[in-house]
Amino acid sequence: MIIAVDGPVAAGKGTLARRIAERYGLKYLDTGALYRAVGLLVLRRAQDPADEANAIAAALDVDQIDLTDPELRDERTGNAASTVASIQGVRDALLDYQRNVANSRPGAVLDGRDIGTVVCPDAPVKLFVTASAEVRAMRRFEELKAKGVATTFEEVYADLQARDERDSNRASAPLVAAKDAHLLDTTKLDIEAALEKAYEIIDAR
Ligand code: C5P
Repeated sequence: MIIAVDGPVAAGKGTLARRIAERYGLKYLDTGALYRAVGLLVLRRAQDPADEANAIAAALDVDQIDLTDPELRDERTGNAASTVASIQGVRDALLDYQRNVANSRPGAVLDGRDIGTVVCPDAPVKLFVTASAEVRAMRRFEELKAKGVATTFEEVYADLQARDERDSNRASAPLVAAKDAHLLDTTKLDIEAALEKAYEIIDAR
């Protein structure tokens, strides 16, 4: 069983995907963490994330980064991730790893941007999780505030829009719902209500 969970930044897909994996006893892979690891490696090497050759070299060395490193969650790393993610060679270098997890027993929930369209186009269940840009920015702002990061709503909102723009308009695997994905709009749903809807969709399969 493979469940693909795609959507834009801060739509709630990570929490949903993790909880779905727990409920159905599946593995969980946060594919954004792989792109973040490549971005972080490039930054640690004091290189430019837009430089293709360096970014691809970092993607091939991605196992040098511990996927639980808290620096992966920094906004600076997220922005570098979104830049390296637009490079096709980086995406190719990360593909086998993602497919191996997806195809291993007992199955997996993968969350990202292109799971239902590129990584696992045959996944039997695909969810596209979204929410309005304002609500996503507010959630991210509250998260950062709770972590003690000094920022403003306006800054977070502008950053989120820039990331949406890059993720949606890039040539390689742009953020788009697969034709057979179920749309889950969490603008007016809390996590428990969104999970109920997700379970209904999965159980119906
Ligand atoms: O999901 P998260 O915000 O951690 O992802 C960081 C960045 O990695 C995204 O902005 C996106 O550009 C990229 N990404 C991607 N494809 C995926 C997962 C993440 O392009 N499957």
